[in-house]
Amino acid sequence: MSPLVEVKNLKKHFTVNKGMFTKKTEIVKAVDGLSFTIEKGETLGLVGESGCGKSTTGRMIMRLIDPTEGQVFFNGNDLTVLSDEQLRPLRKEFQMVFQDPYASLNPRMKVSEIIEEPLIVHNFPKEERKQRVEELLHVVGLNAALADRYPHEFSGGQRQRIGIARALAVNPQLIVADEPVSALDVSIQSQILNLLKDLQSQFDLTYLFISHDLSVVEHISDRVGVMYLGRIVELSDKESLYKEPLHPYTKALLSAVPIPNPRAVRERMILKGDIPSPANPPSGCTFHTRCPFATEECKTTVPEWKMVSENRYVACHLYR
Ligand code: SF4
Ligand code: MG
Repeated sequence: MSPLVEVKNLKKHFTVNKGMFTKKTEIVKAVDGLSFTIEKGETLGLVGESGCGKSTTGRMIMRLIDPTEGQVFFNGNDLTVLSDEQLRPLRKEFQMVFQDPYASLNPRMKVSEIIEEPLIVHNFPKEERKQRVEELLHVVGLNAALADRYPHEFSGGQRQRIGIARALAVNPQLIVADEPVSALDVSIQSQILNLLKDLQSQFDLTYLFISHDLSVVEHISDRVGVMYLGRIVELSDKESLYKEPLHPYTKALLSAVPIPNPRAVRERMILKGDIPSPANPPSGCTFHTRCPFATEECKTTVPEWKMVSENRYVACHLYR
């Protein structure tokens, strides 16, 4: 069976001004050659520090922005070659849930109108819409009696439920969730994650789940891709990744996460320095400026993707 989504050598390079007082520009390589698949019904987590290109990747898959290079196949169709006109009927198959439910819901619209909007855009018959909105509220755990209220009358968690209801309205196959719980309290986070899991099995959904938070990603993902400076450095099934991370960057990220089992020992690995600018990424392995294992080879040669075992890929010279 072919994957629901296949991304091939995806790149997004932005040209930006170098400063306020100069006409000089530089190229920011926000995403620099990603290839991966998302299988039907799975959750692929994309994790990495802020600015590593996760959101840009999600937005390219949604075709909210166009890639500089590369392809995004959805059910075998290359989205990157379709015109807006050709894309329109496909759009309802992939929907997005945003980080900030405060910013992504129009404060002047009633909840019922917010959820109804995609139904109108995709020509759902008028007589079915009201009932559909009520169903959706119910499905995300909100009382349908609240449909006439405005977003500010809801808590953060409830607003994210509204955002999820809106994304579900047109029966999508894929949901790209970009930091969907980052703005919420930890206690509310797990409620929303559990809701997303329930909805996934109820409606056969496939998720691309983007987050900077490794414990959140662990909770929901089947496979995880770790991003650094616009590239995926490790891609693995979740269990193996959290049990035995391979890439030094993954190790460092994980070593900073508190582990519930006090007997489990995880070697603490502190990263030197900050993430380099994507406008001026280091040569060779872009992680070499912060990697405690870096050798001369790492400074000059970009590590190739290696399949270490089934479902495990890593880009690092330590693995031959
Ligand atoms: Fe570190 Fe070298 Fe591996 Fe890059 S390739 S992660 S610098 S050991
Ligand atoms: Mg982001």
